[in-house]
Amino acid sequence: MNLKSERRGIHVDQSELLCKKGCGYYGNPAWQGFCSKCWREEYHKARQKQIQEDWELAERLQREEEEAYASSQSTQGAQSLTFSKFEEKKTNEKTRKVTTVKKFFTASSRAGAKKAAQEKTPKQGQPGRERNADNILRDLKEIFTPSWELASPSEEIQEAKAPSPSIHRQASIETDRVSKEFIEFIRTYQKPGQDIYKQCKLFLDTVSHKRDLSIEEQSECAQDFYQNVADRLQTRWKVPPEKVEKAMDEVEKYIMTRQYKYVFCPETTDDEKKDLAVQKRIRALHWVTPQMLCVPVSEEIPEVSDMVVKAITDIIEMDSKRVPRDKLACITKCSKHIFNAIKITKNEPASADDFLPTLIYIVLKGNPPRLQSNIQYITRFCNPSRLMTGEDGYYFTNLCCAVAFIEKLDAQSLNLSQEDFDRFMTGQTSPKKQESDSFSPDVCLGVKQMCKSLDLLSQLNERQERIVSEAKKLEKDLIDWTDGITKEVEDIVEKYPLEIKPKSQALAAIDSENVENDKLPPPLQPQVYAG
Ligand SMILES: [Zn+2]
Repeated sequence: MNLKSERRGIHVDQSELLCKKGCGYYGNPAWQGFCSKCWREEYHKARQKQIQEDWELAERLQREEEEAYASSQSTQGAQSLTFSKFEEKKTNEKTRKVTTVKKFFTASSRAGAKKAAQEKTPKQGQPGRERNADNILRDLKEIFTPSWELASPSEEIQEAKAPSPSIHRQASIETDRVSKEFIEFIRTYQKPGQDIYKQCKLFLDTVSHKRDLSIEEQSECAQDFYQNVADRLQTRWKVPPEKVEKAMDEVEKYIMTRQYKYVFCPETTDDEKKDLAVQKRIRALHWVTPQMLCVPVSEEIPEVSDMVVKAITDIIEMDSKRVPRDKLACITKCSKHIFNAIKITKNEPASADDFLPTLIYIVLKGNPPRLQSNIQYITRFCNPSRLMTGEDGYYFTNLCCAVAFIEKLDAQSLNLSQEDFDRFMTGQTSPKKQESDSFSPDVCLGVKQMCKSLDLLSQLNERQERIVSEAKKLEKDLIDWTDGITKEVEDIVEKYPLEIKPKSQALAAIDSENVENDKLPPPLQPQVYAG
């Protein structure tokens, strides 16, 4: 009972992790608590509504304009005002939906943010046209060449050109490797494999012309693509489900390795701003201790501290992966280390209630780079079936929850008074300082451990000395006691000396010869009676 109320700040009911539509899949804060499937339905609905509303607005404004025009010439000003309003509304819509064809042939049709970025790096000003020309050429080539012949390594490298040469060289080597692996893999699927490959190429080409779309729309393209390929494999090629899943993993790896640089933390979103905000927030919370979060992990146990370090490494490593599923795997690995750390500390399997606070603690301790960007990227571009079910989905949902908690962590959820919380947040004082002055928070664990051991030893020494002195005292007490008793006995003996009385007569006479002295009647004399 007490434990429950103590944890009121962190505790999350497991049902809260599920989609709020009640479909049974895992939900996610990024999808407003829906699962991927329900979220897409909601998103579609909202978009349909938006289009409908825009249409109605357009019609209404047109009507108004016509009426205004018909009724009077003097309302010129008002008319242009309404028209400009309509234009403003429409431009939003337009920038999102520039047609692919148009972009195909214009040199620089990138959205505002991208343009600004290009202006910052003047040497990159023109390649837009060349790139598009390249794309067109390649598209044409692709139409006339069988898909297998297209994937020469040099071309893969060329396709992945980017600003920083050194980073880029590495990236293109990876792209190249992944492409080769994908082709190898897909060959084992024979005809369906050829089909998948063609679909992937088509998809990559399509999206390369759709970079101006909002990230949500690009995400939707990817999700649709996953769905279509999986459906095709299942219904058209009758591939068994487990093989479909395997193929889909490879498809995701292939297309996302190539798309990564365009869709991870894109300039058109506020992902980077959110990353910085989370990072700042975590830094401000550096003073939070495991005790405050009720984390059942004791880092004094070397094995546990090992697990904690591994968990932190895993979650930090997530940022270095390019494929959403690889990022997910880092989260899962981290979570398993957390479960182990709890299990060793508690000597019993960890419960879900223990897990979330510990994950929060690990995230606070690790401050993983670009946390929001990574979560967003996974949410947008991972194959949704991975996120909606299974352990990957479960751990991912928990991580999203942990980040949401960190964003709104307050005095109550840490079992602190508001004053203490404020003082810690402003850096006036630190709870660690209050607890022990001797350690600064960044002293390494081994030194801490050693100091603690020394402390224990000196305590032990003290106790030993106390025992020895007590023993000596006891010995002395025993001697004193013996002496005391001896003295007492002697005193009594002195007080009541042993008197040896002379032999009592009566006792002595029993078998003595001295009969006369006995005052007994003389013994009877034998008499002879005549008779
Ligand atoms: Zn759902």
